[in-house]
Amino acid sequence: MMTASAALGGATWLLRGTLAPGSARAAEAPPGFPAGLDLYQGVYENWSGEIRTDALWTCAPRTAQDVLTLADWAHSQGWRLRPQGHRHTWTPFTVPDAAPADTRVVLVDTTAHLTGARLDGPDTVRVQAGTAMEDLLAFLGGQGRGLTSCPAPGDLTVGGALAIGGHGTAIPADGEVRAAGHGYGSLSSLVTELTAVVWDAGAGRYALRTFDRAEADCAAVLTHLGRAFVTEAVLRTGQDTNLRCVSRLDIPAAELFAPPGQAAPDRTFAGFVDATGRAEAIWFAFTDRPWLKTWSVTPHQPLGSRAVGEPYNYPFSDSLPEPVARLAGEILSGSWSLATVFGNLQYLVAKAALTGDISDVLLSGGLIRDLLDGDTLAHLLADGLRSDLWGPSRDLLLYVRPSTLRETANGYAVLTRRADLQWVVSQFAAYYQTLLQQYAARGEYPVNGQVEIRVTGVDDPAWSQVAGAQPPLLSALCPRPDRPDWDTAVWLDILTLPGTPAAPRFYRDIEQFLLSTFGTGDRSTLRVEWSKGWAYTADAAWSDPGVIGTAIPASLRATGAPGWDEAVATLDRLDPHRIFSSPLLDTLLR
Ligand SMILES: Cc1cc2nc3c(=O)[nH]c(=O)nc-3n(C[C@H](O)[C@H](O)[C@H](O)COP(=O)(O)OP(=O)(O)OC[C@H]3O[C@@H](n4cnc5c(N)ncnc54)[C@H](O)[C@@H]3O)c2cc1C
Repeated sequence: MMTASAALGGATWLLRGTLAPGSARAAEAPPGFPAGLDLYQGVYENWSGEIRTDALWTCAPRTAQDVLTLADWAHSQGWRLRPQGHRHTWTPFTVPDAAPADTRVVLVDTTAHLTGARLDGPDTVRVQAGTAMEDLLAFLGGQGRGLTSCPAPGDLTVGGALAIGGHGTAIPADGEVRAAGHGYGSLSSLVTELTAVVWDAGAGRYALRTFDRAEADCAAVLTHLGRAFVTEAVLRTGQDTNLRCVSRLDIPAAELFAPPGQAAPDRTFAGFVDATGRAEAIWFAFTDRPWLKTWSVTPHQPLGSRAVGEPYNYPFSDSLPEPVARLAGEILSGSWSLATVFGNLQYLVAKAALTGDISDVLLSGGLIRDLLDGDTLAHLLADGLRSDLWGPSRDLLLYVRPSTLRETANGYAVLTRRADLQWVVSQFAAYYQTLLQQYAARGEYPVNGQVEIRVTGVDDPAWSQVAGAQPPLLSALCPRPDRPDWDTAVWLDILTLPGTPAAPRFYRDIEQFLLSTFGTGDRSTLRVEWSKGWAYTADAAWSDPGVIGTAIPASLRATGAPGWDEAVATLDRLDPHRIFSSPLLDTLLR
């Protein structure tokens, strides 16, 4: 059976992180580089492959002290340091695409050595920045501790997830009382203490500074987009719980995303969130029934629910079935209109693998039936059904492996009243569907992936249990003090294969709609999801000067409250020489 990477041009991907023959230009070694620190050259390539550089100088410090040594060296030589975790970020915060070999940057890989975790108190964990989220959750689970929600992949570093305000999906279900140590916002909101490398003006050198969560400066460093270097953090945790995750693919989008009052409440997205507090909709392009997952706190294994003892329980999504890979390969080689088939294929694969229901496949004809032949269906069903899973929280909260289909994504959070959750998803879904059809009518297929919708709360400093704690100023979930009623964030992402024609233009249309619908008025506000695509022109993400220079700063300002300007000023003060910055951060954070 052909593997996904082979079908999608594995040759490029196999070169990840290595020197592509003939592509590298010789680069002078960084002058006066500190002795005793390993230095090597490596290509920086992000997970989606959309950022790929020449071989850049890279170092993997063994200790936080090594990072200080690096910082003083970088300052003295006029070089920059770019902290690097698992490179899962779509946004070019670390380095720009095609950065040449002579870029005066040293990548600082935290994943090799800065990976320790230990309990810091009965309900806090001290964790180094390069620790993978999967390792952190496994460590916590071993201590009977856990998080309410977290990003879906496990191979993200804690430093990377804090930098961009990593999140999962959870708000309190109807009647749910928050358990001590748990929160419903970003990972950053759980920080009680954090250590970063900052400029010490008195000493004239960089120093490690530990920020207590109640310190004003801490608020800027909790989510900092890579404009600082965090070496470790202490996080509040809660008692671990078991979760049950139920998947269904039978509710039409017209009901799930219906305008408020136009469908039975218990079949709407808001209704499912009310019932369990934790939901995600994955809506493949050109299909009419999303894959809906709900998680509920369930101490004991329910009858009929399959017990799991490890994460990543959707093998059909982590290791693409051969027909899906083959069709993706055909799309990428120019058959863009196959997006309509691709969405349906992914839906049918998910339905078969999750529920065992292959009736739709048997009824379909043409290409779908050819692709999903008997062997493929047997293979999909061989793993056993996955629509009702139960186990320790981490095994249900981590469900995306790096081997999943490599797509690009835009991302936004709409902050609103909980009562307006269904209004938000219905407005978005209606516009998205109409736009997709308009493009298709013109023979354009910018989206061949899926819409993903999740819901969290906004960051409440009280969850850290530190008296006087401040919210993370740059988190998309930073609360608006003037709008305490906006307690809910609806996360909206649209995914498509990298390089799909017209995708930036489509994303721009979506962004302009979101800004005008949710970014103004008294019902909601719009924030960008830092790690994904935003600020679209018709040709590219992270490019629209109006969004970068005006809309984004405005979205994080609130009357009379600290916010964008204070965060930017604080980060500048902590690193006045801008050794922890990049071209995009120089443009954005000013
Ligand atoms: C398939 C996929 C699924 C995803 N799902 C989710 C999800 O469910 N929820 C979610 O919130 N996000 C999600 N993300 C985004 C992801 O959480 C972020 O991109 C995160 O920053 C990645 O962590 P990383 O270790 O790969 O960091 P990198 O991509 O290496 O770095 C990200 C940024 O953090 C900075 N950084 C890294 N380490 C440090 C440090 N120690 N100190 C200071 N700055 C640092 C980098 O300089 C860079 O600016 C997903 C990404 C992918 C590719």
